[in-house]
Amino acid sequence: MRDRPTESTRLLHTDRAPNGLLKVVGPPIQKGSTVLAPCAEALYDGTQATYGRAGLASHEALIAGLEELEHASCVRLFPSGLAAMTGSLLSVLRAGDEVLVTDAIYKPTRRFCDRVLQRYGVAVRYYPARCDPDSLMRLCSPTTRLIVLESPGSLSFEMQDVPAIAAAARARGMLTLMDNTWAAGVYFKPLDHGVDLSVQALTKYVGGHSDVFMGSAAARTPEMSQALDEAILDFGWAVSPEDAYMMLRGLRTLPTRLDRHQHSALAVARWLASHTRVRDVLHPALQSSIDHALWRRDFTGASGLFAFVLDTEDQAVVHRFLNALRLFGLGFSWGGFESLALNCDPQFTVRLDPPAHGGAMIRLSVGLEDPGDLIDDLQRALETL
Ligand SMILES: *Cc1c(COP(=O)(O)O)cnc(C)c1O
Repeated sequence: MRDRPTESTRLLHTDRAPNGLLKVVGPPIQKGSTVLAPCAEALYDGTQATYGRAGLASHEALIAGLEELEHASCVRLFPSGLAAMTGSLLSVLRAGDEVLVTDAIYKPTRRFCDRVLQRYGVAVRYYPARCDPDSLMRLCSPTTRLIVLESPGSLSFEMQDVPAIAAAARARGMLTLMDNTWAAGVYFKPLDHGVDLSVQALTKYVGGHSDVFMGSAAARTPEMSQALDEAILDFGWAVSPEDAYMMLRGLRTLPTRLDRHQHSALAVARWLASHTRVRDVLHPALQSSIDHALWRRDFTGASGLFAFVLDTEDQAVVHRFLNALRLFGLGFSWGGFESLALNCDPQFTVRLDPPAHGGAMIRLSVGLEDPGDLIDDLQRALETL
């Protein structure tokens, strides 16, 4: 026997598990698939984390922050916002169930419902985005298990009466799931309003810098938490510790950034509403919005995403307007520090009730720039019409 291992072995076993890490402001970015058990007895005891798909320091720190944000006792992480939506759907639906989905749902979620849920024997029906709770209950059948909400819709901005729908669904033994990305968990708390699962694309406002993908699902009841945990084990979803760290960094400044997004977007929306080439502005926090009363009753603020309607449907003119913008980037996604613009109409072809506003619809994600500069940019581009 050698008195100590050879160099090749020693290189593998240095600094294996540092103890007594220095205390810095954020959590450590612990990386690991293997989690070392402290003793043989712990390997199968079932109460401790034994594998690094979840439970590492930055995962836990982010989850604690999101539980605070969502008023939830259980939040779970998914590799994207879309995965959080599809994962939550899979966690509660079974073959033979029916799901009712708002017609304003995020389009890739709709694609999943139409392609995957239907293929596995879940019936999918869409209901009008402004369907009142009584009419919605009349659409339900004995097999309806889940109602999916998104309020406001992230392209067309219809609001829903979330508390009334959640209460009516619960009284009939049905579940509710809400895509809450627009309010970022700050300006609306779905679980407080009786929704069973609150999902967010953290990619948007929580990340805030358009550079990380992640989604979260928050559960209202222990049964819902358990359903999420089972699905996560069944499907193997995991997020990287670095990405969890980046999301937590975004979460720290979320309310501060949203306050700026909110005020800038309102300034831009009010300016647009007075412009002669603008037919309408779709922003629930404007008093002129038909959804304003619901927004005021339930939400404590508005994020920076809204749309407006040009006085033309001519695609060449719409493209000229978009191409004239200098500060607004042209692109999908939203919630980052940089402002973005997009024409919405090509996405309405899948809708039962495509919004009809008598002109091309342009969506703006108002970023953190000076709102006066953004208004100048819009004014310059509108002048090219
Ligand atoms: C972007 C978005 C998603 C999906 O999030 P990803 O992280 O991009 O997969 C889901 N819902 C809404 C409303 C979104 O805007």
